[in-house]
Amino acid sequence: MGLTSDQINTLAQLVVDTAAAEIDCDEFLRRVGELAAALAEPATSTRSLREAAQHLKVCPECQEELRALLEILELESR
Ligand SMILES: [Zn+2]
Repeated sequence: MGLTSDQINTLAQLVVDTAAAEIDCDEFLRRVGELAAALAEPATSTRSLREAAQHLKVCPECQEELRALLEILELESR
């Protein structure tokens, strides 16, 4: 919960037509900064991002981590 529909759409596009390898939470957290950047610049879609987005679909805890990070980034950009 907490992600905007635009962000969810971007994530959904990342996982379309991919059989992304499953990654665990530790690996996700290593990529979460990259994923947050991709949400700001949706043109980028790498295998690493697709795998992270795939994990996000199945892991509410990491959704929360991403949401918190996006909040921080938004605050910093003001
Ligand atoms: Zn996770």
